[in-house]
Amino acid sequence: MPRAISARVSLLVITGFLGLITAAVVTEGRRSHPELDGSTLCYPFFGPAVQIDGSLPDSLRALAIAHEAVHVQQCLRLGALADFVTRVGVRGRLHLEAQAYCAQTDLELGWGIRADRLFDRLVDELDETVSGRSFGHVTIEQIRLVLSEDCPRLAALATASRPSRPAGFTKEEPQEHRAAQRNQAQVQ
Ligand SMILES: [Zn+2]
Repeated sequence: MPRAISARVSLLVITGFLGLITAAVVTEGRRSHPELDGSTLCYPFFGPAVQIDGSLPDSLRALAIAHEAVHVQQCLRLGALADFVTRVGVRGRLHLEAQAYCAQTDLELGWGIRADRLFDRLVDELDETVSGRSFGHVTIEQIRLVLSEDCPRLAALATASRPSRPAGFTKEEPQEHRAAQRNQAQVQ
């Protein structure tokens, strides 16, 4: 093959490959955590691009900004390709999201939300955000472990603030109670 044609073919292959990565990363970004009303797109070469819903009330907007700021750092640190590849597997996505959710906790603790309730709510949100959206499977217990690992201060505060149960009382909190806590947290 003449050298000029070979160079053009190489250029086409490289361009196509980069286009594919861009499309995949952009799609990935759009699919991530819509419940937070924010997203971070991690582009090859251009880096992170953050979108936050401007109609959010101040408290939710502050949470979304804190959360997305972590994804910006992850994008800059890993680069678009590694960021995308990490998110393909459920364990990798869980760590990236746990770190981002952890960044919200100082705000929420400052608003007076009890640490154990906040920890449990973030576990639920991570389960909704991560499970079924990446390859692999994680249990609630694994989510709790990863959140404790990536957010040790919250985990310690949660353990300290968890009320001791009366002897023989091991029943989980009713689901509707958890939902009420979540609603309460979102309107503050
Ligand atoms: Zn996120």
